[in-house]
Amino acid sequence: MHEREESMDYHSKRPEVVEAMKKGSAFDIRYSDTVKNKRAYYAELTEDDEGSKYIMRTSLNYERDYKEIKNIAISQFLFFMLLNLFIYFCYKNYLKGHLFIKIEEIRKTLEVGHEVTSIYSKGDTWIAEFWKIVSEWQKKNLENMRQLEVDKVRLKRIISSVDMSISLINERLEIVMRNDALNYLYREEENSPYYREVKYIEIIDIIKKCIKEKVSVKEEIYIADLKKTLLVAVKYLDFNNQYILTVKDITRNKEMLDVQKNFISNISHELKTPLTNIKGYLIALEDAPEEMRNYFLNIAKNNVDKLENITMDFLNISKLENTRVVNLTPVSFNSIKDDIEGTLDSIIRKKDARVIYSINLLDENSYMKVDFDKFTTVLKNLVENAIIYNDKKVPVIRVEIMELYDRYKVSVVDNGMGIPESEMENIFNRFYRVDKARTSNIAGTGLGLSIVSEIIGILGGKLGVESTEGKGSIFTFTTLK
Ligand code: ADP
Repeated sequence: MHEREESMDYHSKRPEVVEAMKKGSAFDIRYSDTVKNKRAYYAELTEDDEGSKYIMRTSLNYERDYKEIKNIAISQFLFFMLLNLFIYFCYKNYLKGHLFIKIEEIRKTLEVGHEVTSIYSKGDTWIAEFWKIVSEWQKKNLENMRQLEVDKVRLKRIISSVDMSISLINERLEIVMRNDALNYLYREEENSPYYREVKYIEIIDIIKKCIKEKVSVKEEIYIADLKKTLLVAVKYLDFNNQYILTVKDITRNKEMLDVQKNFISNISHELKTPLTNIKGYLIALEDAPEEMRNYFLNIAKNNVDKLENITMDFLNISKLENTRVVNLTPVSFNSIKDDIEGTLDSIIRKKDARVIYSINLLDENSYMKVDFDKFTTVLKNLVENAIIYNDKKVPVIRVEIMELYDRYKVSVVDNGMGIPESEMENIFNRFYRVDKARTSNIAGTGLGLSIVSEIIGILGGKLGVESTEGKGSIFTFTTLK
């Protein structure tokens, strides 16, 4: 509202006018004695077209307008406060009812290990982003977990395929993990200390030693009840105070070692006997009376034969150990027969034996596809045994060969002394001879059948024997073509 005009002189002293004269415009608030209220003054310096200067001055009832403005400000402030509170409560409810439920859903989904991609909300972009991150993180986690599972299965497979028993003993001395090898050493006792689960005191003692001294222990033990030699090792894992127990059955290795040791002493023994005989009879020959000389010479000659046999057997064995290659070639049956008869000629004649061949081959020219050396070695050994372990006046040996579509089936049938039932499982062992007294006058090393058995193994065939004491034996083998 404009004030009525007052004298120029009086107004020119007003602070806003004085300042407007200097600065062009000015503003002031003060109590007006004239109208008796607090007013706001504004003064501005203006200029007309002819260059004359004027002061424009105006005033407002500041008190009334200030109150109005203050009221508006307070009501607006209250309005926005209420609005904020309203938004806050709405949003809180929204978070509770929407976001928190979603988070709970995710937590549960993660707990059971499913993927969370299906749950994220499409409407809320930032939630979607958040879900995406969680999903990716969880995907990576699931991938790692799957990899761990695969590794675990692989490790389990490796451990269970090992032929030695492997167990993990924890710090409470319980067996917490064990593969299935050598199960017979353990009792099924879950969550109990190792000395309840392990059956044999010999093994328990070794574990105790390791626990007491906290050092790895390895010992070879023999368990009489099982007739087994075991290699037991207990390793102390100092980083987690646990133990790894491994038990390996080395009975077979031990036996093999014994066989090797015995082999050398057997060789020496086998060579020594005929050599001593030859030497003795040759010395005796020098001073022997004329009528005894032939007798002594014959004994010496027999022992030379024995030495030759032994040497042949040893050669065959070392040949087999050096080359296990099978060389299948077409050979005529006649060449096989000639080879056998040529080698066994002296023994056949000596025993007045009859060797009869009965062949049933597919090839019209009687050709066979065999490894000549190996096949004839097997047959020579079997036919020789059939002749020498024969107490009949006329040993009769039948060699039957039948060709099947993928193999040959060969039988050597004799009318000899037969083999006692109790000896059957041993005759294929190296150096094994049935009842030495019965065969003491027969030159043998106990190696023949072990050589036969090894060759048949190399040829991929099978070897079997049927025998009746006093009546004869049938050795049968097959060999692949
Ligand atoms: P070797 O003939 O050198 O003693 P082998 O391994 O060929 O050794 O034979 C082992 C044992 O099996 C022989 O000592 C013999 O007692 C017995 N044997 C093998 N073949 C026959 C057979 N055809 N008839 C009876 N006994 C046999």
